[in-house]
Amino acid sequence: MTGELAGGGLPAAVVGALRAADRPVCAYVYDRDTLRERAARLRAAVPPGCSLLYAVKANGHPAVVGALAAVLDGLEVASGGELALAVSAGAGTVVFGGPAKTDAELRAAVAAGALVHVESGHELRRLDLVARAAGARVPVAVRVNRAGRRLAGSHTMAGEATPFGVDEEQLPAVVRLARGSPGVRLVGFHLHAVSNNLDAVAHAGFVAEAVRWSVAVSDRLGVALEYVNVGGGLGVDYTGGAVFDVAAFGAGLVPAVAALPPAARLVVEPGRFLAADAGWYAAEVLDLKRVHGRWFAVLRGGTHHFRLPAAWGYSHPFTVLPVPGWDYPFERPRVVDVDVDVVGELCTPRDVLARGRRVARLRAGDVLVFGRAGAYGWDISHHDFLRHPHPQQLVL
Ligand SMILES: *Cc1c(COP(=O)(O)O)cnc(C)c1O
Repeated sequence: MTGELAGGGLPAAVVGALRAADRPVCAYVYDRDTLRERAARLRAAVPPGCSLLYAVKANGHPAVVGALAAVLDGLEVASGGELALAVSAGAGTVVFGGPAKTDAELRAAVAAGALVHVESGHELRRLDLVARAAGARVPVAVRVNRAGRRLAGSHTMAGEATPFGVDEEQLPAVVRLARGSPGVRLVGFHLHAVSNNLDAVAHAGFVAEAVRWSVAVSDRLGVALEYVNVGGGLGVDYTGGAVFDVAAFGAGLVPAVAALPPAARLVVEPGRFLAADAGWYAAEVLDLKRVHGRWFAVLRGGTHHFRLPAAWGYSHPFTVLPVPGWDYPFERPRVVDVDVDVVGELCTPRDVLARGRRVARLRAGDVLVFGRAGAYGWDISHHDFLRHPHPQQLVL
């Protein structure tokens, strides 16, 4: 299998940024035009009445958050740190989720005018206290972990025992609690269930069903439904050619929006789909060597910067960016048409970005560029393990 992307085509602006980067090259490059293009593509596909938020945890670089806040309806945040970022980005709507909010974070959410996704009855009681102390009435949506709802994709977060949300059986009690809490105003439900689903038709089906359920449960429990948030989960195929069919997804949302009461909005909050294609991770080959019959390309970088392939156990595709200059007074290590394992600078055999990938030619001093690194790349990695310097963060 070839390690190089078909055509090897890197955008000229990315190549330009990497040619000007510090040596040895170790950098993330983020492209704001790509972020805006992804957002526009999703916006064009979904029906009016559907709000689009960006889930900040996918990539919290301020330039990324700022670019998406400017073109979407708002941001979804899951910590006090992300909340502060969203406020400074000037986001329209801010919604705040996550299973472990502190009182300080709840106070910050109230001060920011955020809508809070409440994850338990106990959290609802704490939010009510905090809101009343601030003289506020906070809009809340109860995050529900529904029974028996499973979708394809990774990172299933609902339909089975997870720490996310309120068990469907306990929902009537939580709704009663909300009704008796003057500091909160229950507006609807949050139903994020899965990540990286590539089946757009199935995902739209999940959304339509989530809306039907929300309308029915609101009728039954006497909730004036204003808000149904179906989370993110729109997938990206890192190793194959599959694409999430946004047009089919958007078309599938039309009946879902039509089934909502007129005052209610449907909210989708993707992270990966918006940010993945807008980031590249690049690292220079420091050494090339053959050990026990395998070729290793050793990078100035690794999984402490880009953990996704190690976390998910796949080989991330890359492009070789040839670097012509060679300053040493001895021969340049090189391989031609061999399979290489691409490893990082950490002292652990798990620091592997790709295994057994064919390269037409690779030399020490060339740069490997990993595309689709804009979501869950830097943000999920163990930056200070071994205390190597961090990569440059270049924004186009
Ligand atoms: C992670 C997360 C998202 C975004 O998920 P993607 O798979 O990146 O689209 C949205 N909502 C919640 C609650 C999340 O935890």
